[in-house]
Amino acid sequence: MVDSVDHAQEYELAERERHIRRARLSSTCASRLLCEACEAPIPEARRAAIPGVALCITCQQRREQQQRHYRKDR
Ligand SMILES: [Zn+2]
Repeated sequence: MVDSVDHAQEYELAERERHIRRARLSSTCASRLLCEACEAPIPEARRAAIPGVALCITCQQRREQQQRHYRKDR
């Protein structure tokens, strides 16, 4: 059943590509030079690593901690 395996892989690849394309599309308008929260400059490397990044490292960590607390509360 080589055909079905190929088809599944093809589907998975197409699916992944769609996600990447969508992430790229949103990153073109969402990627920021300055942090959304504190307006500190976001390093080029960080923006390249995380498409559509809107927060500096400090604010990102703070937000992640808040989200963790939020999840724990529920
Ligand atoms: Zn910040």
